[in-house]
Amino acid sequence: MGARIIDGKAIAAAQRERIAAEVAALAVQGVVPGLAAVLVGDDPASHVYVGSKERACEKAGMRSLGARLPAETTQDALHAEIDRLNADAAVSGIIVQMPLPQHLDERAAQERVAPAKDVDGLGPVAAGRLLRGDPLFAPATPLGCQVLLREAGVAVSGADVVIIGRSQLVGRPLAMLLTAKQDDANATVTLCHTATRDLASHTRRADVVVVAAGRPHTLTAAMVKPGATVIDVGINRAEDGTLFGDVDFAEVVEVAGAITPVPGGVGPMTVTMLLHNTVLAARHQHGLA
Ligand code: NAD
Repeated sequence: MGARIIDGKAIAAAQRERIAAEVAALAVQGVVPGLAAVLVGDDPASHVYVGSKERACEKAGMRSLGARLPAETTQDALHAEIDRLNADAAVSGIIVQMPLPQHLDERAAQERVAPAKDVDGLGPVAAGRLLRGDPLFAPATPLGCQVLLREAGVAVSGADVVIIGRSQLVGRPLAMLLTAKQDDANATVTLCHTATRDLASHTRRADVVVVAAGRPHTLTAAMVKPGATVIDVGINRAEDGTLFGDVDFAEVVEVAGAITPVPGGVGPMTVTMLLHNTVLAARHQHGLA
């Protein structure tokens, strides 16, 4: 096995310790960050995700103030709930768990969250600030990728970074984060997608490849420059329930210089960065920025 394995679990654990220490310091000043997760309906996977976010929150010393709404909730009732949380001083950050039941407009719900509490970073103000190079809340998964690279000692400044996937959730915000004018960014980013011609010609010259396509076997060994760093965001589930990524790990590990596993790579960073954003929101709301 050639590549160094980037241990997302260990890096996330260290970040959570830092966050818990920050929460303890805020508590001395009478500030307890609170995260409200709005969950509509009975989707089992969403319940699992929200449950793990809430547990992580409480473990870090924060309040979790979740709201559970029935599947038949109307758009107006959902907006009324978000408005209530927007106005509640105990709530620092609000997330609306996706997917919403089909009759609901996800984008409208995301836009209803007050920009000061948009810790998922998916609303237009958060996206606009990120585009402007002045992010407040960056979406958790791409932020997690950036922190993973930094904490693993992978220099991205001046590097050629190729991102596969242009979603609003991962690829596009990551391109914005890594092109910002700062030390743990400053990368030259190529954002590839389904209409990209000859994907391998891009990935083969990359110092860092981030794969967020949601498609198994998107990156094979022949597509990787020897010694490059590979970050696998993808989560796919085999028939027996095991998770695997978008990268052909067994062969790419022989060529890459460093690589994230699935599970245990990017995944643990996502919830951690949500906690980070919630603390940031609480600090801002109390004038402690
Ligand atoms: P998405 O479906 O919204 O976007 C996928 C993107 O990949 C699209 O922009 C598409 O153009 C591109 N793409 C797909 N196949 C491609 C190909 N063959 N060549 C080039 N581009 C291709 O998905 P998403 O929400 O961005 O999520 C991507 C993956 O990351 C999924 O597997 C998802 O489960 C995973 N994910 C993981 C975490 C985590 O915490 N680890 C968080 C979010 C998403």
